[in-house]
Formats: sequence, structure tokens, C-alpha cells
Amino acid sequence: MAATNRPDVLDPALLRPGRFDRRVVVDLPDVRGRESILKVHTKKIPLGDDVELSVIARGTPRFAGADLANLVNEAALIAARQNRKVVTMIDFEMAKDKVLMGVERKSRVISDDEKKHTAFHEAGHALVAAKIPQAVPLHKVTIIPRGMALGLTMFLPEGDQVDYTKEQAEAQIAVGMAGRIADEIFCNMKSAGASNDIERATELARKMVCEWGMSELGPLSFGKKDEQIFLGREINTHRDYSESTAMKIDDEVRALVQKGYDRARAIIEDHREAMVRVAEALLEREVLDANQVRLLIEGESIGPVRTSGDGKPQPAVRPEGGLRVPGLMEGAGPQPA
Ligand code: ZN
Repeated sequence: MAATNRPDVLDPALLRPGRFDRRVVVDLPDVRGRESILKVHTKKIPLGDDVELSVIARGTPRFAGADLANLVNEAALIAARQNRKVVTMIDFEMAKDKVLMGVERKSRVISDDEKKHTAFHEAGHALVAAKIPQAVPLHKVTIIPRGMALGLTMFLPEGDQVDYTKEQAEAQIAVGMAGRIADEIFCNMKSAGASNDIERATELARKMVCEWGMSELGPLSFGKKDEQIFLGREINTHRDYSESTAMKIDDEVRALVQKGYDRARAIIEDHREAMVRVAEALLEREVLDANQVRLLIEGESIGPVRTSGDGKPQPAVRPEGGLRVPGLMEGAGPQPA
């Protein structure tokens, strides 16, 4: 989901007239820019043969230069901790998870109920994402708690997608609603954990109506954004429409969200058994990649659980790019949308 471009203002007083006249907006690097930045930062690091900086660049949209430097540093630390001489793609993958989602909270005690609930919630996002062709492709699903999140469904954006077609936006709303629906159907509860999903789906619907002209109200922009270069003005959106238009906007937003909800609900109800398979596999393995989710939905076997030396399940981490799409998942990354 597209991020708000509102800059983080630490102290609003900084924006008072006379303090700074201009705001210079520095664009985040695009995929080629990120590859160049990665090249610079990995110059003095021995890289494994499997490392493809272009793939890492593709999997790190919205990373700024400093985030990429941090990523390289973390990957090198992970390799060093395992006494390896070279940094491999898996190190980068693990580093990215850490940078994006925070350190795995191994110490947090999670009840079995909580774990089961998280597994179904994330399975809901994953199933609906897999079943709607226009949805952003799934990358992996995990129920390992990180930061504030109990679980996470990650997607693999193709390129630097920041805006959506109407079909894609509608798909993302349905994917966002899927967690709540899974909570309702499989755990018989409405959890607060879905509040972030709902908020983001609503925000996307509002953008569709107010900014992207994707509703019955037509190709109009409602609520001018103050993105003036001159500061000292409120950064808030100001209303440039009537009360009756405001009500129509609310109706359109509600209809878009409801449509996504109904669509996701139909998919989940039609695939109850697949949901159970995905959730059970998550409980067993904690991490599933997109291919495993697809196999489980189709009712295929995904092979035995690989175990590491300590007997704990070894999550299948695949060395490919991936990023949670801001807007669908709970949990905080370095660049919250
Ligand atoms: Zn969710």
C-alpha cells in the first residue's frame, strides 16, 4: 500500500515560519540506485558465490542508503557469528528480516491459543493473497514474533510499486481483511491484532476515493494535501468539499472495504481445509515460503520438517528478495507506512 509521504516531524516548532524556508524532499533510491549503494557497501566484504546484489536490491524497496548500509552490516555480523568466511544470500535474507521486523523475540512466552490464533490469522492473509491474481505476490508467512508483531505475512513487490491499479488496490483491501475474517471463522473472536490491518485497508480505500479517482465519485481529488514548499503551514489535509460530499466519500470508502471483506470471506469459506493445512503447517514450522503455501493450498505435501542440531524446526529461508508491503501486516519496520 502506498505510504503517506508525510515527513516525520520531530518537533513541529521546527516548521514555524522563519526557521527553515524550504523542505527538500530526497527521493529514496530506486532499484538501480540500491544496487549501486549495495555495491559500495559490500566492496570490502567477502561475498559468497550465490550473492546477487540485483536480487537484494529488488527485495528492498523503500530502503534508504542508511538502511542498506545497515543491512550489509547485519548480514556480515550474522556470517561472522557462525564463523563463516563469506557472507551468503541467506545471511542477507536473515539480515533483512531483522532490519524490517526487528529481532526475533525468542524469549516471549506465547500461549498455545495465541499461537494458534496467529497461525490462522496469517494463513488468512496468505490464502487470500494466493487466490487473487492481482494481489502482490506472497513472499513468506511467519508466526515467529518480532517486535510488536506476533506474526507476519510478507509480500514480494515486483519493482518499486508504490501505486496501484483499481484491481490491485481492491485485491490488497481483501488481503488486509483476510486476517480478521480468519480470526472470526477459526478462532471465534474479533481480535485487536487486526486493527492495524483494518486501519490500513481503510486508508487504502480512502486513497482510492479521494486521491486516485477510483470510485463512483469520479476522477476528482478530495482534500488537498498541503505539500507546499513553504513551511509553517499545517501538514494536515484540509477539506475542500461539502458535508454532503463528505458523506458520499464515507459511503464509498465503506463500500470498498466491505467489498474486500466479502470477497476475502468467500475465498476463506471456500477453502476451509486449505486454511487448516496452512495454519497447521505454520504451527509446526513457524515459517512457510510462498511455494509451500501454494502446495498446501493445493493439498500437496511440502516434505518433512528440517531440523537443526538442537532439534528445533529449521525454517526454510530462501535467498530471494522480499518485503512486507506496508499496509497489510502488523508489525513495525524501519519505514512504517
Ligand atoms: Zn493481520
